[in-house]
Order: sequence, then structure tokens, then C-alpha cells
Amino acid sequence: MKKYQGKGVYGAVAIGKISLFKKPDAAVKRIHVVDTDNEKTRFEQAKTLAVQQLQEIYEKALKEVGETNAAIFEIHQMMLDDDDYNDSINNIIDSQSVNAEYAVAVTADNFADMFSAMDDAYMKARAADVRDISNRLINNLSGNALIETGSDEKVIICASDLAPSETVALDKDKVLAFVTAHGSSNSHTAILARNMNIPAIIGAGDEFLNEIKDGGEAIVDGYTGEIFVDPDGETRTMLLEKQRADEEKKRLLQELKGKENITADGKKINVYANIGSVGDIGKVLANDAGGIGLFRSEFLYLENSDYPTEDQQFAAYKKVLESMAGKKVVIRTLDIGADKKCDYFNLKPEENPALGYRAIRICLTRPEVFKTQLRALYRASAFGNLGIMFPMITSVSELEKILAICDEVKAELKEQGVEFSDKVELGIMIETPAAAVISDKLAPMVDFFSVGTNDLTQYTLACDRQNPDIEQFVDTHHEAVLRLIEMSAENAHKHGAWIGICGELAADTTLTETFLRMGIDELSVSPTFVLKVRGAVRSIDLSK
Ligand code: PEP
Ligand code: MG
Repeated sequence: MKKYQGKGVYGAVAIGKISLFKKPDAAVKRIHVVDTDNEKTRFEQAKTLAVQQLQEIYEKALKEVGETNAAIFEIHQMMLDDDDYNDSINNIIDSQSVNAEYAVAVTADNFADMFSAMDDAYMKARAADVRDISNRLINNLSGNALIETGSDEKVIICASDLAPSETVALDKDKVLAFVTAHGSSNSHTAILARNMNIPAIIGAGDEFLNEIKDGGEAIVDGYTGEIFVDPDGETRTMLLEKQRADEEKKRLLQELKGKENITADGKKINVYANIGSVGDIGKVLANDAGGIGLFRSEFLYLENSDYPTEDQQFAAYKKVLESMAGKKVVIRTLDIGADKKCDYFNLKPEENPALGYRAIRICLTRPEVFKTQLRALYRASAFGNLGIMFPMITSVSELEKILAICDEVKAELKEQGVEFSDKVELGIMIETPAAAVISDKLAPMVDFFSVGTNDLTQYTLACDRQNPDIEQFVDTHHEAVLRLIEMSAENAHKHGAWIGICGELAADTTLTETFLRMGIDELSVSPTFVLKVRGAVRSIDLSK
């Protein structure tokens, strides 16, 4: 047995086989071959497998994100059959006597360059699709089948690090736990792991990554951050007992279902859930959340290989609103940039991406992208109780511009006779110190604030949330952060706005009482934490 130590980001215990998550090999080798027919057969086999994989992903996406969003995986299947693409690969194998991987990689580069050079935005965006299908082929050729097509057995995914886009692509039904050698606990990957309700550990270190073997047995303890590879009998018995006790604790929490979020002295609090996709709704309902306090809409963009159209977005938002049947649904507009990268946005590399071109800064400088999303949101508002929230606000003038664009969108919809609700609440995220400090000026302009403690902490403490090396300097209970939240709450209430917290700190039950005493009206947490927070709220007596 060997024990490794990382940092647990979601408490639970899992026992199972290790599956090493391999990133597509960026540097494909050019190998001279004699038997070119064999390479062409290998290519055909990799293609057949890719079509099967894409069909499985299509069917899964159909269930999780609906037909319009799933359609891209049908398009990918068609692209694999494109004559020009196939001819190019076979020609390179024949004419240069090279391996199939190399022929696919060269074809991918050529086709992606050709698409990128086109004027038409739709065709331009096909570059990312060609790369996507080609990576899949290369993975299949080199035996690194992506995990969504692996066996039916659930596995412990072990990786160096995972990007949010890679995490969303994983087949969640086949993941027992996550362990990454690097990464930080406030990264979006960690947040996704919490949403998936599975044990997750980050920062297990390079030694861990170098020593583990695909298919080896491990136990992951997300509470302590420990990973036991080839566990001995005693450890196994102890952790199986811990797993049993954990399940019992979770079962007890289930008894809080259907109960109110009310303090012992009678103050009602909204306990809502955070989601990243339509597919998360099941967990929201299963955990009895009173609404959705944060729908990270950028995941709709990350799941796509091109800008989701107005109709695609409308379908997704409508589905969430209808499923929540009149309960509040706060959808945050696109928060792309920093660690959430989308190829087709063609964002330039930046020295300091967290301080760079992200979120509302992209929306205000690419108004066509912003207006498409706002039109979809307002159209969907006719089907439920919608709140729209804007990320990364730092100034009054930004908010004035946003509100003017909202008015423009509404006027256009009205003129076109398109139905929308006139009760949509507008709010902003308080996730920069600037927004908190001028919250007295921002509050009269909106219906609500939602505090994004993940970013507010990173910007207040000058600690990059992506950098694992400075975790020791991140004091999530830092007085400066708490004072900014308190100041925002006072200003919100002074001007008749409500205030919630949707960052990870909302689920920290050691702070629930502090937040309630500040007057926080809503706590929005990963669906799996809703009942835990309900339990905490019910145990607090604010009259004492
Ligand atoms: C936050 O910053 O706290 C937040 C909720 O937004 P995100 O984690 O998506 O940046
Ligand atoms: Mg944020």
C-alpha cells in the first residue's frame, strides 16, 4: 500500500480502479511505415470507433442538454465521413509512407487553417470541430480511448490537472472520484467535482502521478485528502466503515427534505442551488433546493464547439425555468475567460487572465454575443421566474451600459411581438472589491446582489484562485472579505435590494450564522450541499 496526500475538495469516500486521464498527445510523431495499407486500416478502425463514441455522447447529450445542443455530435459524425478529409488522410499515408496518427494531425492542421482563414463566422468556427474530431481519432489510434467510451465500470479519474472543458466532457456516470496532481481548490474544476457529488482531491503531487498505474486499485478519502493505492486489509475495512457512516449521515440529511429553511427564531432564508447545465436540474430537485441562485451559463458555451445560437440558448433556459415550475432561477450571463476558455472565442493569451479580458468585459465589447444571450434569456422569461445576473462588475458606467442594452433588447422583442415577462429581476455579482466598495451606488440600480466569494476572495487577497502554490495564503474567512460582504449587504438593504451569496463560501456552515447576522437573504450552493445548509440555518437562533 502507498499513501499520497492531496487536498480534499469534496468530502466522500470512493473505492475503485484508477483510470489515468490522458490528454491528447499534442506532439504526434512522424513515423516512416512500410505497410501503408495497415495504416489505412488502422485509420478506418479508429474512425468506426469514433463514430460509435460520438453516437454515445450524442445520446447522453440529448438527455442532458436537449436536441439542439446535442446536434453538434451528429455533425461531428458527419465530418468524420467527409470525402475531402478522408482523402487527405489516406493520401498522406500513401504518398509519404507515414503513420495514420501523423496523417490525421497534418490533415487537422491543414483543414483548421483553411477554415480559420474564411470570412464566414460559421465556417471559421469549424476549425475547432476539425481539431476535436482529429484529436479523437488520434486518441483512438494510440489506444487512449477517451473515458466516456471505456468500460461500464466506474473509475477513479487521475490526471495532472483538468480544464473545466475537459471536466464537463467526462461521462459523469462512469466517474467514482477525481484526483489531480495539481490544481487549486477554488478552481472551476473543483467546483464541478462538488456539483458531481463525488469525492475529489487536488494537489496530490507529481510523485502520485508518476507512480500510479492504470487499472490499479485505490481508495480516495475526499475528507482528509488521502489516496491509498493498493490498500491493505486494515485500511480498506476502516475506510469502508467511514463510507458507510458517511452514507448514513447523508441519509439523515434526507430527513430535512420538505422542511423550511427557517431559523429557530423564525427568519426565513432562501437556500438555492448552483448549476452549470440543464442536466444538473435533477440534482436540484432531488436535493429540494428552493430555486437556482446561479446558473453558470458559460458552460453552455464550453460544451459547444461554436457559439450556441439564440434558439439553442432559449431552449436550455426555457427547460430550466419550466423544470423549476415558478421557483426563482437566476441565470448569470456569460462568464468566459480566465480559466474558462472556449477556442472559438479566439481569446488572446494574457499575462494575467484573471485580471484580463473576461466575463462582462467580453460581453460589452462583443455586443452581438451579449445581445444574442439576452434575447434568449428574455424570451425564456415567459416560462418562469427569471433573474438575470451580470458577472465581474467593477463600475457604475458598466452597469449603465448593461441596463441600456437590456432595454434595447426588450424594445426589439416588443416591436417583433415576441413575448417576455416584465417581472425579470436584474442583479449583479459582487465579486470584485470595487463593486463591494461602491455597492451604495450600484444597489439602487438593481433588484439584487449575489456575492461571488470565489473571485471576491481572489481579488481582495491578491491570491490567484488557480495557483495551488499559494493556497496557504488564502484565508477564506479573512476579515477583509467578510467586511466587504457586510458592507454590500447593508447597502443592498438600504436601497431595497436583496442579497445572496453564490460563491463556495455559501456552503461553509461555520459561517452560516455570521452571514445570517449580516442580513444575507439567500445562500446558493452546490445541490449536494443544500440540505447541509438547511440543517445549519434551522439550528441558528438570531434572537440570542
Ligand atoms: C464566484 O466568483 O464566487 C462565483 C460564484 O463565480 P465563479 O466561481 O463561476 O467565478
Ligand atoms: Mg466568479
